[in-house]
Amino acid sequence: MTRMSIIEDAREVVRASALIELGARMQVLESELALPRDRLIRLYHEIKGESPPKGMLPSSADWYMTWQANIHASLFYNTYVFLKDSAGCSHLDALTKGFRLYREHCAHNGLEMQLDLTRAWTLVRFFNGAILQLTSCRRCAGKFVIHKYDAPEGKVCAICQPPSRAGKRAKAKPPRPMPVPLDSERSPAG
Ligand SMILES: [Zn+2]
Repeated sequence: MTRMSIIEDAREVVRASALIELGARMQVLESELALPRDRLIRLYHEIKGESPPKGMLPSSADWYMTWQANIHASLFYNTYVFLKDSAGCSHLDALTKGFRLYREHCAHNGLEMQLDLTRAWTLVRFFNGAILQLTSCRRCAGKFVIHKYDAPEGKVCAICQPPSRAGKRAKAKPPRPMPVPLDSERSPAG
């Protein structure tokens, strides 16, 4: 293994710190960063004041198909794709910036957050692994998350067609599309 430069090492620490502050689990950190596990654990301790939680990561793509989770996953993933493909962010920057925007959007609109950082990260993995895809709603044309094996044509999104159990309160306040800042700071690729 080649030795990282001091600058690249420092950048990795900054990236790790941002992810830990947003609630990343160890599995996320180890898979995204080139830092050794013992340093990640120490960093986690310093930032959170406790040991990283143990346990398995969520692994079901079905989780993203329930009504509210699907709306939130679609909001997050659309933002992630914009940051990565149109704003020139790296995967990791798109993940952290996209998740911050999602968190701010929920706070600003009084919505209970459905995704945590691990769910957001897993969502991106499911897209990369061709388990999930985006399709356009035939009513509002908004793009939303469906299984890869689902036929993409003619679907209606969870905002346009909430389940009847969602009730009046939820129908009265559908989450609005998340505004994506066009002046988002560009970061160097990689
Ligand atoms: Zn729709």
